[in-house]
Amino acid sequence: MNSFSQLQLDPHLAKAVAEMGYESMTPIQAQAIPVVLSGQDVMGAAQTGTGKTAAFSLPLLQRMIKHENSSTSPARHPVRALVLLPTRELADQVAQQVKLYAKYTQLRCAVVFGGMDMKPQTAELKKGVEVLVATPGRLLDHIEAKTAVLNQVEYVVLDEADRMLDIGFLPDLQRILSYLPKQRTTLLFSATFSPEIKRLASSYLQNPVTIEVARPNQTASTVTQLFFNVSEDDKRRALKQILKQKAISQAFVFVNSKLGCARLARSLEKDGLRTAALHGDKSQDERLKALDAFKKGEVDLLVCTDVAARGLDIKDVPAVFNFDVPFNAEDYIHRIGRTGRAGAEGLAVSFASGSDARLVTDIEKLTKQKIEFAEISLDEDRFVSRRPRSDNDERPRRETDDRSGVSRSRFTPVKPPSDPFFDQPYEPSPQALEKASQVSSKETTAPVRAGISPNIKPKRKVAALFKTN
Ligand code: AMP
Repeated sequence: MNSFSQLQLDPHLAKAVAEMGYESMTPIQAQAIPVVLSGQDVMGAAQTGTGKTAAFSLPLLQRMIKHENSSTSPARHPVRALVLLPTRELADQVAQQVKLYAKYTQLRCAVVFGGMDMKPQTAELKKGVEVLVATPGRLLDHIEAKTAVLNQVEYVVLDEADRMLDIGFLPDLQRILSYLPKQRTTLLFSATFSPEIKRLASSYLQNPVTIEVARPNQTASTVTQLFFNVSEDDKRRALKQILKQKAISQAFVFVNSKLGCARLARSLEKDGLRTAALHGDKSQDERLKALDAFKKGEVDLLVCTDVAARGLDIKDVPAVFNFDVPFNAEDYIHRIGRTGRAGAEGLAVSFASGSDARLVTDIEKLTKQKIEFAEISLDEDRFVSRRPRSDNDERPRRETDDRSGVSRSRFTPVKPPSDPFFDQPYEPSPQALEKASQVSSKETTAPVRAGISPNIKPKRKVAALFKTN
């Protein structure tokens, strides 16, 4: 058992960890924490959702405890640790976690990212902070304004480094790193070790210890995956029906375009569902508010695009809907990794229309798992069995063995074998980021299956497919 107690953390840190309710260390924590405590550089292949944030922040805070002081003088609180992340949401998320771990210490943590007024950030920086979490662009603004002084930095974390390179942050990173003392500990986390990442590591890390805890292309075994073949016109109705029948309290609903995201959120809202939208055209403030409302349970559905939702850690989301099949199979793994986190059971429901066949095949190839189609009928209020019915047959059907109406005799969802190595939610390899953002920015909508009139209402047929292994 990898207990936190064996780390002999400072009592203030240990108290904060105990309050988080963590029972044991995750694989990345068990491997990385002792290495960081010993002062070595780390090159870690681990995705969001694996407990990576604690893996770097706990040892970093532990080693900075010696600098703890209660002085009000900003000079006594220089930036000693710098954590760089590609997006505002991730920066905010990581800073919140670091603050939780540091809350019983006197170490201060601040976060700076773009899209927000610089003044409050400047005021906070001027008071002095030991741990600075930042996105590269905004950090450079603060460096230029001399509100961020980095000449006493001892620790640097390049988190989600592959995505930072994808976004084109390399020149910014190089500039930032040039301001830092050469004597420091550098930690680099990335979903993949591409040649670019290796080059970055060889330039800025010294004899790093390589730690790899999650393999790509695997879905968490705690997530039950369920596919329905639904026409565009039926998707909204199918979504509402499954939510109701499976009594799903909260869910992410993924769509492929910003426009589709806004439209769907609006129409679900009109239907009386508590919904928020998260996509790149929303202001930073709106995005943070939507996330916050979802986390507090004030909204039940968070309709989002891939780019906006990537890497977000929201606990206990019982279900994820792929309202559109993602254009990149890797995004499928990323999306469904939002549910079934930290060993919890999760449900991933995907709606595919006939024209999505190729995308479904891509998912099969990537996950190396066969997806089997099952047919069911979508009735007014519930799914009924897949047995063909005539249009004038109005009798209620009772052939289903669960409330979703899916006939289990033929289509019992089969979970992949449990493999602790794969049980970490997966963050996809980042080439997808660029492709996804291109797709999102084109504001495409998923293709509508030809030949189905929106006016044809009764007794619509849909097909479902379950993943088996
Ligand atoms: P991260 O990969 O850092 O984004 O963490 C994902 C989630 O796992 C966060 O909500 C953490 O609070 C949680 N977490 C981190 N470490 C542990 C642990 N040892 N046991 C259980 N949950 C953890």
